Amino acid sequence: MNKNLLYRSIPKVDVLLENELIQKLIAEFSRETVMESIRVKTEELRAFIGKSEDEESCKEKIEHLLRDVQGAVVTMNEPNMISVINGTGTILHTNLGRAPIGQKHMEQVAKIATGYSNLEYNLEAGRRGERYSHFEELLCKLTGAEAAMAVNNNAAAVLLILNAMGKGKEVIVSRGELVEVGGKFRIPDVMEQSGAHLVEVGTTNKTHLEDYEEVITEETAALLKVHTSNYRIIGFTDTVSIAELSELAKKNDIPVIEDLGSGVLIDLSKYGITYEPTVQDSIKNGVDVLSFSGDKLLGGPQAGIIIGKKKYIDRMKKNQLTRALRIDKFTASALEVVLQEYLSEENAIKNIPVLQMMTMTLEEVTEKAETLAQMLRDKNVAAEITVVDCESQIGGGSLPMERLASKGITVKPSNISTVDLEIQMHHMAKPIVGRILNDEILLDARTIFTEQFDVVVEQLATLL
Ligand SMILES: *Cc1c(COP(=O)(O)O)cnc(C)c1O
Repeated sequence: MNKNLLYRSIPKVDVLLENELIQKLIAEFSRETVMESIRVKTEELRAFIGKSEDEESCKEKIEHLLRDVQGAVVTMNEPNMISVINGTGTILHTNLGRAPIGQKHMEQVAKIATGYSNLEYNLEAGRRGERYSHFEELLCKLTGAEAAMAVNNNAAAVLLILNAMGKGKEVIVSRGELVEVGGKFRIPDVMEQSGAHLVEVGTTNKTHLEDYEEVITEETAALLKVHTSNYRIIGFTDTVSIAELSELAKKNDIPVIEDLGSGVLIDLSKYGITYEPTVQDSIKNGVDVLSFSGDKLLGGPQAGIIIGKKKYIDRMKKNQLTRALRIDKFTASALEVVLQEYLSEENAIKNIPVLQMMTMTLEEVTEKAETLAQMLRDKNVAAEITVVDCESQIGGGSLPMERLASKGITVKPSNISTVDLEIQMHHMAKPIVGRILNDEILLDARTIFTEQFDVVVEQLATLL
């Protein structure tokens, strides 16, 4: 095998550039990406010939150079971050981006983000304005708080609150609430970062009001209550309510802070979901400052919403950390439109995807599952398709014990293994993420949008 001859038969760059396909690629993408792909693919080819002992496969690879270049150009110009179809049944799936935002809400955000806006410009006064002004009044109206702001996420909110209110002083927390939520966010560690000193009281399962009372001193900056989000202590337990903490705090002239985690604005028990104390409850019960996530049960953009007494919120707005943790125009705009939906509970349930999925009735989800199953059967896919009972989860550390009775479909492929099918499903243009259960793929119909059914069916039909 004459390797020199093979090397010489690789088309030169100037010859390639004359090629019609390459010309087309340059016109469609760019000269830079085409040149880069030619360079990379030619180098790969030379390395292949260098190692190969098989002349035929070398010749074949040389013949495929154009096609390989085309593939490389296309890949380079495709986004790596793409949308996926969530068949897991977990509504707030942290790895899949948590809360999906409504189409209608995103259209408003796109308008803001693609041009200039009054983000920090007060049009009436003709001078600098505040980025929180677009949703502060709305948040106050919805929650009963005096003032509001938002930062990058709830982890940032907790850090900012503790820094602004507790730096160099003591903050008292129950041992049962020293939690770690997802992504290594640990209350004791955040406390240390903020410069506040942690004073632990009570035990893991029981904390009483006297426990707090006994350690309040001149050095106490605040009492902190943390929602235990993703875990539950059950059995012989006792915690102190916000109402009781507020009373004690008032007597001692110190504030009560709450990290509410998810933060719901709607009483979900009306929809058959376990009652979760609302943001309004905490404000009513006297909390001074409270924070919660924008993209958990609220169903909005990633953000850490902070509400409470004006004197504390003002202090936080002036804090140096706020500048580092501030939200951008995308978030400010999305928060405003999503919060507007809450002016009517009916609109919120109907238009916020997270709430819509959570409150979907068993009849509705059954109908979805049956429609999807029928669409697949109509395609005569080489698989057994069955409508089955399953359980959806809320996810995102919210309501961890909650299981929503749901319906989904199982796909049992006839010609390939279930594991292979799952891998291939992840490699489609619109990857489908499901669960493997009893050697079948389970797709929960709750978290797959009806608008996605056509794509799901089309893609599965090409695999099966
Ligand atoms: C989720 C959660 C956080 C972190 O919120 P992010 O918005 O993810 O930063 C903090 N505290 C509690 C109690 C939580 O549940």
